[in-house]
Amino acid sequence: MAKVNLDVAVVGGGLGGLYALYRLRRLGFTTRVFEAGSGVGGTWFWNRYPGARCDIESLEYSYSFSEELQSEWRWPERYATQPVILQYINHVADRFDLRRDVELNTRIASAVYDRAANRWTLTAGDGTIISARYCVMATGNLSTPRVPDFKGLESFQGKWHHSGLWPAEGVDFTGQRVGVIGTGSTAIQMIPLIARQASHLYVFQRTANFSLPARNAAMDVERERQHKADYARRRDEARTTPFGVSGYPLPTQSALAASPEERRRNYERLWDEGGTIGFLTCYNDFLVSEEANETAAEFVREQIRRTVHDPKVAELLAPKDHPIGSKRLCLDTGYYETYNRDNVTLVDARSAPIEEITPRGVLTADREYELDAIAFATGFDAMTGALREIDIRVEGGEVLAEKWVGGPLTYLGLMSAGFPNLFMITGPGSPSVKSQMIVSIEQHVDWIARCLDDLRTQGLARIEPTADAEVAWVAHVNQVADSTLYPRANSWYVGANIPGKPRVFMPYVGGVGAYRRRCDEIAANGYEGFEVTAEGNAALRQRTLSAA
Ligand code: NAP
Repeated sequence: MAKVNLDVAVVGGGLGGLYALYRLRRLGFTTRVFEAGSGVGGTWFWNRYPGARCDIESLEYSYSFSEELQSEWRWPERYATQPVILQYINHVADRFDLRRDVELNTRIASAVYDRAANRWTLTAGDGTIISARYCVMATGNLSTPRVPDFKGLESFQGKWHHSGLWPAEGVDFTGQRVGVIGTGSTAIQMIPLIARQASHLYVFQRTANFSLPARNAAMDVERERQHKADYARRRDEARTTPFGVSGYPLPTQSALAASPEERRRNYERLWDEGGTIGFLTCYNDFLVSEEANETAAEFVREQIRRTVHDPKVAELLAPKDHPIGSKRLCLDTGYYETYNRDNVTLVDARSAPIEEITPRGVLTADREYELDAIAFATGFDAMTGALREIDIRVEGGEVLAEKWVGGPLTYLGLMSAGFPNLFMITGPGSPSVKSQMIVSIEQHVDWIARCLDDLRTQGLARIEPTADAEVAWVAHVNQVADSTLYPRANSWYVGANIPGKPRVFMPYVGGVGAYRRRCDEIAANGYEGFEVTAEGNAALRQRTLSAA
């Protein structure tokens, strides 16, 4: 049984884990990454379904930590595909010599903290034991795929796949009758491509989602040149914006203060430009006033009605049960147009729900659909799923999954009280999924790196949030969310897609800029809200950590 001794154990070899390794290794901490997959890449390793691509422009959705990397890497399209992003991540792993400290095919099953020894012991599925002073969970927000508990799934005689565990060799649907279950971001990307291969495609829609056109295209070389020439400023700007994307500052104008014509012109411009962030930041009341929001929602419904020829299908596709943007806005290429094809049928799984999977296909309350293959685009146990799957506990103390039974409790989405030296990258309670993920990943890793460096410099060895600071932060996260329209939707942001999951709004929606300032202030004020202690008798040697 292998035993590994480290300063820092990082769980997860995606964008977060790799950057953590890069930063911490440069600070001289012995660090290793443990990754369940057979390759690096996290989300971009697993989600290989047809049409998978990023919905943030690649010039933004990329690491900013290396000037050479960001200026030399060429993105072929405005929005990179999954294979290109995976290639980029592999390039980063090679370029910065990260692989020698990445253990692949290693799924961490448990992480147990021993207070007396001040060490975490991680156990992998293959029996490897890792002892580390600090543990960084870079386990991702959307990394626990979820297939609904449909009766009869095991009896299905065709092939089925979940988008988040898609076979690396791809799936050929040529000439097949295919069912796609779900109409979230993933389904909206895969449907147009599967429709081109399948003899017939049935899309099982329970809830319609708002989707905007991507207007993807080959990278405009001049635009790329200008963007890269201005990279330093743009990256700085992105860090101060609500969603972590440059060019989209905090909006100041109200939709209701604009005239209907002015609003329409604005929405048309944004629709033609493509992308989601323009809509999310077009007016300052877009995400807080139902009336303001409805002006944009109705504009998008009109576009759907204009695009889809069959008025009944168009009406089914036009979302009416949640404000636009309160669920993750989808981005598509030819999604609504796909319903004009003769070989595509939209099945209303709201009025006639799926009852079971049969050997031949899908049985709804209406009828049976005979299928050769099913693609589950049914989402993830988001934000907390991956952490709750690992048995995280303190010897003789708390168990994280039990502590979070009523919803995740964290301070800043970085740590949870009672679990010393355990950090999360983009954990619940941080902007995470409500931001450009790489901006948030870099911010969290930089904060953790600075914290560990400060601890080491000052002879300290343990940090954990106080219960009071955590309670106050959780209250703040809820209060900010409650002042918006976000909680109005049955989204995975509130855990609504997982039966029995407590309905708690998980990401922090106060904005990337505001959040970042708060994290920096907290560190600068001697890690306000954290208890820091030296090795040994914690109670006697408690000290205040000051930021370098
Ligand atoms: P999702 O948004 O959670 O959507 C899951 C879909 O499955 C929903 O339409 C849901 O319907 C449906 N569903 C679940 N259980 C069902 C059941 N029993 N019967 C019928 N339908 C059922 O999952 P996702 O599309 O995989 O997206 C998750 C997140 O991943 C996105 O929001 C986004 O953040 C990220 N993502 C990003 C990109 C990108 O960057 N381009 C691409 C894909 C995904 P209900 O709504 O009725 O529950």
